[in-house]
Parts: sequence; structure tokens; C-alpha cells
Amino acid sequence: MERTLVLIKPDAVQRGLIGEIILRLERRGLKLIAAKFLQVNQELAETHYAVHKGKPFYEGLVRYITSSPVMAMVWEGPNAIAAVRQTMGATRPTEAAPGTIRHDFALEVGRNLTHASDSPETAAQEIALWFKPEELYPWDRATDAWIM
Ligand code: ADP
Ligand code: MG
Repeated sequence: MERTLVLIKPDAVQRGLIGEIILRLERRGLKLIAAKFLQVNQELAETHYAVHKGKPFYEGLVRYITSSPVMAMVWEGPNAIAAVRQTMGATRPTEAAPGTIRHDFALEVGRNLTHASDSPETAAQEIALWFKPEELYPWDRATDAWIM
């Protein structure tokens, strides 16, 4: 079982795609165990994207992620890290496979709608950066009990 951090970035919030993105992750079978809607400050943005510091797109990336609120979530499931990145699609929307979020809703790498952790190590770091332990709510599925 894995956990991964997902961000619905400012462009996706502005475009009314929160529900669409959550729908796809939920329908895939992944389980939402934490969520918050927040305005990202400079410090959080710089820590989150520290790995990209010095790259030509870094300053713009920090401006983008701090420009308007984001939805931050933790999703859980078997192979959740790879599964979420697959559902997101490649970083460049024009290289993302049809049927992925980035293919279906985006055109530009600088406005690619979502973030998802890329390894177990970064997932653990990013979940700890964005959420306090007590903000995570793991739960057991009880489908039958809620339907019948
Ligand atoms: P991913 O989000 O798929 O893990 P990266 O970690 O490589 O991609 O990059 C982080 C984010 O930085 C991307 O999602 C995208 O928003 C932005 N980004 C990456 N490369 C570029 C680029 N060449 N120009 C503008 N923005 C970029
Ligand atoms: Mg990345």
C-alpha cells in the first residue's frame, strides 16, 4: 500500500476542474485520506519545488503555484504513486497519453493542472510538508454497509 501527495494546481482550480480530477482518481480505485484547500505561501512553494531551484522555469513555477488557491490531497492505494502519475499523464501535456488528465485538459507544461509525488521517498517528504500527521484519516472501505 502506498500514499502519494496530489495537488490540484491554481489553473485547475480556476478552470473548475477540481471535481473532474478527484472523479478520475476516485474512480480509479484510489482512496482519499486527506484534503485541504489553501493559498500556498512563498516558503511552502520554495520548499516543495526545491529540487527545481536554479532551473529556467523555477521562478515562474513558484509564481504559478502561489498565484491562487490549490487543493492538496493524500491518496492511498496499491502502487498509488505510479498509478496517480499515470492518470495525470506526462509532464508536457502534448506528450501525455490520450485519456490522461494532462492530455485531456491541458496544452502547456507551465499550466499542467496537477502535481503528484514521483517516488516513495518524495511522497513521504511531501506528505509531511503539506499535512500534519493528525490531518490524515485512513479509513476502511465498507461499501456493502452503505448501499444495503
Ligand atoms: P511533474 O510535475 O510531472 O513531476 P517536474 O517535476 O519535472 O514534472 O516539474 C515540476 C513542474 O514544473 C511541472 O509539473 C510543470 O508545472 C513545471 N515545469 C516543468 N518543466 C517546465 C518547463 N520546461 N517550463 C515550464 N514549466 C515547467
Ligand atoms: Mg515532479
